[in-house]
Amino acid sequence: MPAIIAPRGTRDILPAESWKWSYIINTASKTMTDFGFREIHLPVFEHTELFARGVGETTDIVEKEMYTFNDRGGRSITLRPEATAGVMRAAIENNLCAQGASAKLWNWGPMFRHERPQKGRYRQFYQIDAECLGISGAMADVEVIALSIEIFRRLGLKNLEVVINSVGCEKCRPVYRQKLVDYFSAHLGELCETCKDRLNRNPLRILDCKKESCGRVSDGAPDIFDSLCDECREHFAEVRSGLERLGFTYTLNKRLVRGLDYYTKTAYEILSGDLGAQNAVAGGGRYDNLASAIGGAKIPGVGFACGLDRVALVMEEQGCSFGEMPAVTVYCVALDNESRGAVQVLTHKFRTEGISAECDTSGRGFKAQMKSAGSCKFACIIGADERANNSVAVKNLSDGSQISIPVDEAVTYIKERM
Ligand code: ATP
Ligand code: MG
Repeated sequence: MPAIIAPRGTRDILPAESWKWSYIINTASKTMTDFGFREIHLPVFEHTELFARGVGETTDIVEKEMYTFNDRGGRSITLRPEATAGVMRAAIENNLCAQGASAKLWNWGPMFRHERPQKGRYRQFYQIDAECLGISGAMADVEVIALSIEIFRRLGLKNLEVVINSVGCEKCRPVYRQKLVDYFSAHLGELCETCKDRLNRNPLRILDCKKESCGRVSDGAPDIFDSLCDECREHFAEVRSGLERLGFTYTLNKRLVRGLDYYTKTAYEILSGDLGAQNAVAGGGRYDNLASAIGGAKIPGVGFACGLDRVALVMEEQGCSFGEMPAVTVYCVALDNESRGAVQVLTHKFRTEGISAECDTSGRGFKAQMKSAGSCKFACIIGADERANNSVAVKNLSDGSQISIPVDEAVTYIKERM
């Protein structure tokens, strides 16, 4: 029988890599806390309706990327393709934004999209996500963008570009949408099949098409800035001046539209020069229409999602530091079989005192145990003599020196030298 392997587009994050992921998540977590964001945990599956309405029927995600199935009760369930809709659902359901209150929430975890797997693009991937709910002013947009930049600064990422745009609101976008339909209709022959199909359903998405021919047509498309209403124009100006006040540089890209329908006003992405085609390490923006789209009261929001897999890739490529690799401090070694019990007791003592320790649990001999001790700072060796006089031989594995001390003093001895 052939061995069962992981489904296409998924992969295992093994210990050699997982400690680096922990470093990224811990850095993000600390930064979120420093910005006043609090962590929440959400279900990884939701009613399909949440994403159909909250992400938008005409988006790539809903049209072709979702993992949707009927559960045993016959309900349509979808593995979350993104986090924002779930965060907003949770905020509404738990009244986090009642009476004009605001909530700053973050979370991280796996997302699922049925895409063509390639470098930096997987079917199960991970996002670190931050959402600021209940605030409609531009200062919140600036805070969210600053938060994402600060996470990357702390991680040491270089070569990043912040790209921003405004996609308008329900008042001005219909006008712009019509201008686009008119324009692209006149260039229909130059568009790819997918974009032809997008023309009447979601013409803004044509602007985002990665195909060169569509890009050329889009370059001549009407400019969204000319269609923004006064409110959106002012909001965008405030976002820009806020970013400038904090000393950030950014570029404007009128073709940046985001794949999700609920976005209003600010849209932004952070791009890395070291990722090739999958170059976005984070994307986000404002989504003032999401709450009403999923049946809640009107709650404005702004947030971002950062691709953990891609951040890890870029950091690896740029030789960024992941901090110190976790290592076990002490290895306890039994010289003979009779000492194995004493060794396990000592190992457990270290562990309960907050000193990382290991011992052999598989009955291997002295030499094999000493070999395992090689990656630790100390070996604590117990044999017949040590048992007879309640001592332990402590070997410092970095300089090879060895001394005998009372076993009761082992914890203090190691703590002083950690
Ligand atoms: P892309 O244009 O690369 O498909 P997107 O616009 O679909 O990205 P978002 O929905 O904005 O991406 O998700 C935010 C971030 O999540 C992206 O910037 C990226 O870093 C990451 N991401 C999205 N899809 C994937 C995937 N399939 N595999 C790995 N990371 C992903
Ligand atoms: Mg995508």
